[in-house]
Amino acid sequence: MLPEFKNTPFTDFSIAENKTAMEEALAKVKSELGKRYPVIISGKSYIEGDTFKSVNPANTSQLIGEFTKGTKEMAEEAIETAAATFEEWKKVPAFERARILLKAAAIMRRRRYEMAAWMVYEVSKSWPEADGDVAEAIDFLEFYAREMMRLSEPQPITSYSGEENELYYIPLGVSVVIPPWNFPCAILVGMTSAAIVTGNTVVLKPASTSPAIGFKFFEIMEEAGLPPGVLNFLPGPGGAIGDTIVDHPKTRLIAFTGSMEIGLRIHGRAAKLNEGQVWIKRTILEMGGKDFIMADETADLDEAADGIFAAAYGFQGQKCSACSRVIIHEDIYDELLEKVVERAKRIKVGQPDNPKHFMGAVIDQAAYDKILEYIEFGKAEGKLVLGGGKGPRGGWFIEPTIFSDIKPNDRLAQEEIFGPVLAFIKFKDFEEGIAIANGTKFGLTGALFSRNRSRLEQGRAELHTGNLYLNRKCTGALVGVQPFGGFNMSGTDSKAGGRDYLLLFTQGKSVCEKF
Ligand code: NAP
Repeated sequence: MLPEFKNTPFTDFSIAENKTAMEEALAKVKSELGKRYPVIISGKSYIEGDTFKSVNPANTSQLIGEFTKGTKEMAEEAIETAAATFEEWKKVPAFERARILLKAAAIMRRRRYEMAAWMVYEVSKSWPEADGDVAEAIDFLEFYAREMMRLSEPQPITSYSGEENELYYIPLGVSVVIPPWNFPCAILVGMTSAAIVTGNTVVLKPASTSPAIGFKFFEIMEEAGLPPGVLNFLPGPGGAIGDTIVDHPKTRLIAFTGSMEIGLRIHGRAAKLNEGQVWIKRTILEMGGKDFIMADETADLDEAADGIFAAAYGFQGQKCSACSRVIIHEDIYDELLEKVVERAKRIKVGQPDNPKHFMGAVIDQAAYDKILEYIEFGKAEGKLVLGGGKGPRGGWFIEPTIFSDIKPNDRLAQEEIFGPVLAFIKFKDFEEGIAIANGTKFGLTGALFSRNRSRLEQGRAELHTGNLYLNRKCTGALVGVQPFGGFNMSGTDSKAGGRDYLLLFTQGKSVCEKF
């Protein structure tokens, strides 16, 4: 019997032993930077051909690794291989598949510091952010393994005299998995392991700014005993090979997490029937957000300020759940703004391998340029009260930034910036505050700080976000505890880490025998 699922505790780096372990892992990973990595299809490595580079965003002259650039031909081959392997993998019993995830979780737990260290260098996560990312990945493996065991049991249906009826869940087929770079371990592992444990085969195209951590997961799955061809590793630019793997008639399912623009593109292409295709493709699309923290005049201002600070600046504001709008009642607006500014002023920006630095760099030059452009929009739309400038040289650093006097329809209040930029918006009465909170095309996360019971109840009912938090920050969803996914243009609300999630990777088969 398996122990009950429990969330992996976060590492306490104030304990000397943990701090030393992380320092050793960073040194080990540093000594391994700059290697050459292949495309892997059916266990076979493709090392020849063009390459692309993954670099450290905080030190752009530091090469993380050089990766074979997947081509259209490789993409076709990966799908064909996954289709052929599916015929065998789908017959492997559910418990056997689940045990591979449990084994992978155990390996990842043993390599926890190393996995975190890769993310410190490859995507500029601080120690606690990188550690949280690995903890979430381990949770996904443990949770989905148990969920598959539960789903493989006989499903409850109504009995009917003279017949034996049953309902069971079978896999779909070739799953294309396209993760983002911002949770390069957790989201990649979550989507991939869900597809595999339900009996599908996978073509995994990691984000081009974080392929190394994807490769590390591939290695772990191999070590855990996953047969060749079940998981195929296809790094390469989404703009060049994305359409090939999405459009292929043998692709059955696409699990994507990333921007709204690419998610909608995939949605549209997947809806088109291609020659030889005999199914309607399934898409699981988790996309962007314009998340808020709202506080009314009864809120505990210190708790609200702590929540806003953590949700806005953790990982440089590059979380889909990050707070980018603060919606405050006019009576407490100035005081709460001041408290958040005070906290944000203390942030140290710099190399994330140094644990003193709360914020590292943003992911790449495109993100850096985009965020600086939004800072210029902010200067025209509101009042710059903190930051607004570039951080230390040598990497894509941006100061924690705050704008006040932003209006609900300003670009800063409507568009996803995905950086450390916070927009403060004022409201006069609670209904107006709710309307502002709900007044974007997104609906991913939000939080309400209030000590008024009827307002909390009203917020609970009327704030339209897939993940709503009352009197706490809007980031940090835990697997199994707060299943995650957004409304409207934030996606298909797949609720990753929840009990409905694996169903999205299966189809129910109802069988009846009359005696
Ligand atoms: P992105 O630019 O949309 O990229 C996501 C993935 O799509 C990457 O692997 C990318 O590959 C690939 N891609 C690019 N063009 C493609 C195409 N034409 N066809 C198929 N795939 C293609 O997003 P991102 O910058 O990585 O991630 C940030 C976004 O993700 C934000 O909007 C954030 O809110 C969202 N996000 C949402 C959630 C959620 O649960 N709702 C969670 C995390 C992040 P390349 O890297 O090679 O371009």
